[in-house]
Amino acid sequence: MPLRAKPSSAPNESASQTTRTPPTFATPRRASKTSEIVALEIVRNIVEQDLKPGDRLPLEAEMLKQYRVSRSSLREALRLLEVQGLIAIRPGPGAGTVVGSVHPGNLARTLTLYLHMAGSTYDKLLDAWMAAEPVLAGLAAKNPDRAKVREMMGPFVSKDHAEHGKWAIAEGLDFHDRIATLADNPVLALALQSISYISTEQVLTNPERSQLEEQIVHDHSELAEAIIAGKPDKAEKLMAEHIQHVVEDFKAYWPRRVGEKIQWR
Ligand SMILES: [Zn+2]
Repeated sequence: MPLRAKPSSAPNESASQTTRTPPTFATPRRASKTSEIVALEIVRNIVEQDLKPGDRLPLEAEMLKQYRVSRSSLREALRLLEVQGLIAIRPGPGAGTVVGSVHPGNLARTLTLYLHMAGSTYDKLLDAWMAAEPVLAGLAAKNPDRAKVREMMGPFVSKDHAEHGKWAIAEGLDFHDRIATLADNPVLALALQSISYISTEQVLTNPERSQLEEQIVHDHSELAEAIIAGKPDKAEKLMAEHIQHVVEDFKAYWPRRVGEKIQWR
């Protein structure tokens, strides 16, 4: 589905300033660059036209006409969005720009860069993770759509889950993604899950984790039961304990990494 030109609201090279009352924060907000304004316009068009991940954006020549900016500004705008994972630029034959996804993993990358620069340590990251996950678990337990809760949490209740022998970290992450969905607050889900993504990406790297895997399967099963039963307090408590189990395992395995500073990688 092609983007339609909107000449009336399209920015141009000279209109790079918006008239707005400056915020009263200590750090004043800098003026947006043309490429940033174009990036914002592209996002606005994606949202307005309800484009989905994988949908194509117009060709470069078309976008140059549509946004009335220089090629370098347009490319910079696309690059800004590509870095955030909000679009993907495919080179070669059949090349083109497609819509990306609002994925906490993408936000996690940006957040990691900030945390790296801020000199934050893994201790603080893990503390934040332990604070974040129970919030989502509590909200999931309160979700009024009980049928959906049962449908999404049901597969994790099974006590013989571990015997299937196919359990993998990915499945564990899927469990947490489902809880974030059931929490039914995209703002909290995105913000808090980005913390989870950094933690799991950088923490769940221990190759020898059969004991922990059993613990995780057990924890997930208990959590799923509490969420299905609609018990937010219990779900919060169990989630805090669950993350604690994973964090303790990490601290035992990588004692020196705990105090280290977070690295962007
Ligand atoms: Zn888990």
